[in-house]
Amino acid sequence: MSRPHVVIIGSGFGGIRAAKGLADVDVDITLIDANNFHTFQPLLYQVATAGLDADDIGFPIRRIFRRNRSVTFVLGEVTAIDLDGRTVAVRDGRSFDYDFLVIAAGTISASFGVDGVDGNTFPLKTLDDALRLRSHLLTQFERASAAGDPPVDLGIVVVGGGPTGVEMAGGLRELIDRVFRKDYPGLAATDIPITLIEAADRVLGPFQPALSEQAAATLRHRNITVELGVGVDHVEPDGVVLRDGRRFSAGTIIWAVGVTASPVAGLLGVPLGRGNRIPVADDLSLPGHPNVFAIGDIALPPGDPLPQVAQPAIQGGTHVAAQIRARLAGRPTSPFHYRDKGSMATIGRNQAVVEFPNGLRFHGFIGWLMWLGLHLIELMGFRNRANVFVNWAWNYLTYDRGSRLLLDRPTPAMRDEPLGAADLSSRSEVQNER
Ligand SMILES: Cc1cc2nc3c(=O)[nH]c(=O)nc-3n(C[C@H](O)[C@H](O)[C@H](O)COP(=O)(O)OP(=O)(O)OC[C@H]3O[C@@H](n4cnc5c(N)ncnc54)[C@H](O)[C@@H]3O)c2cc1C
Repeated sequence: MSRPHVVIIGSGFGGIRAAKGLADVDVDITLIDANNFHTFQPLLYQVATAGLDADDIGFPIRRIFRRNRSVTFVLGEVTAIDLDGRTVAVRDGRSFDYDFLVIAAGTISASFGVDGVDGNTFPLKTLDDALRLRSHLLTQFERASAAGDPPVDLGIVVVGGGPTGVEMAGGLRELIDRVFRKDYPGLAATDIPITLIEAADRVLGPFQPALSEQAAATLRHRNITVELGVGVDHVEPDGVVLRDGRRFSAGTIIWAVGVTASPVAGLLGVPLGRGNRIPVADDLSLPGHPNVFAIGDIALPPGDPLPQVAQPAIQGGTHVAAQIRARLAGRPTSPFHYRDKGSMATIGRNQAVVEFPNGLRFHGFIGWLMWLGLHLIELMGFRNRANVFVNWAWNYLTYDRGSRLLLDRPTPAMRDEPLGAADLSSRSEVQNER
């Protein structure tokens, strides 16, 4: 008799945890992801700002389950789900029957209908995004150092004062002041503005106000302009226009405003909830489909929406694995209870804010050490942890950043810029070894 088949869509925090929770159960598991690696998204900004390499925060999925014979990995983008026929199909036409389905496809970045976001801004949601942004920053500085006319606008606007925007702004200031000013001595005296724009009246909205103020003060102290209380009206190719009419010109615009559920949610054909998330019952199953579960960023359990951070996905993965075990054993399912373990965000070297649900909070150097420690622990794989630790130690001691190879070929538009003899075909000049 064939074993029950569990299909899991997505190998992020939730999907991996669900698969691990079922690995010793008498089921066959098919784990489908559009990428062959798991991304540790909290450190994406460090890849974008040349602090870490892509493979420091990406981990091959096949490696994770190498010893679990019951888990089969499928590289493919899910494009159809048939709830009645109990099948999931991927773009290349392959289709997979399931007895249980776990949807853990996360989110994608969202423009929230603001004109000009698509095409003029850099999102930060995937490793591709991080590498594209890093490449763009390096290219901007190469162009500027070639003394083009008109001059290259090195100014940066980060839209969104949540943890991603705050971490990004802090990381960029360090990259520019500690690294680029040495790499590009001709630009050392140039004023390179970084502006953080947040529509709410404080940064780090989910944190206690005192920590938000602490974070904003640190950002300002680090020469980052913080604009609060006014949203973005629209984005132009070379600047951001706020609703009050002010315009901030910038050669780099980073969109760190928020996310919406992965299009996988829309494949179910059920009414979606806030942020296009899948409304689920208290046991995380899809109402009317007790064999289908949604977890993590893509799920909307009853009650107050859970934060779209790693812990709800991890805990959801564990919970759903337990529910599937219960169902197989003929036992009833139980409700999911999220345990808030606290929040943290760093603003760069020696500065972070940390908050626990019991009100305990830390900032400054202690907070930063806690941030470093937790991120090291949460990273997947010993090699990644060791690499990240060595990179961080190196960066801390030398103020240098090793990951700033400009690997992609210059675009035709870039060739039009007056690079002259310094054409980037001699790319070895812009490459730095670790
Ligand atoms: C820049 C950034 C910084 C963050 N910082 C923090 C932080 O400091 N702390 C924190 O707790 N959280 C942080 N988060 C949020 C956290 O990463 C997410 O909440 C978490 O990853 C959600 O887990 P998940 O399993 O629901 O989805 P994800 O981890 O996003 O995984 C979804 C998976 O589904 C796959 N997928 C999507 N669509 C398809 C498809 N059609 N077919 C096949 N596969 C598909 C994706 O490739 C991906 O692997 C951050 C997020 C970002 C973007």
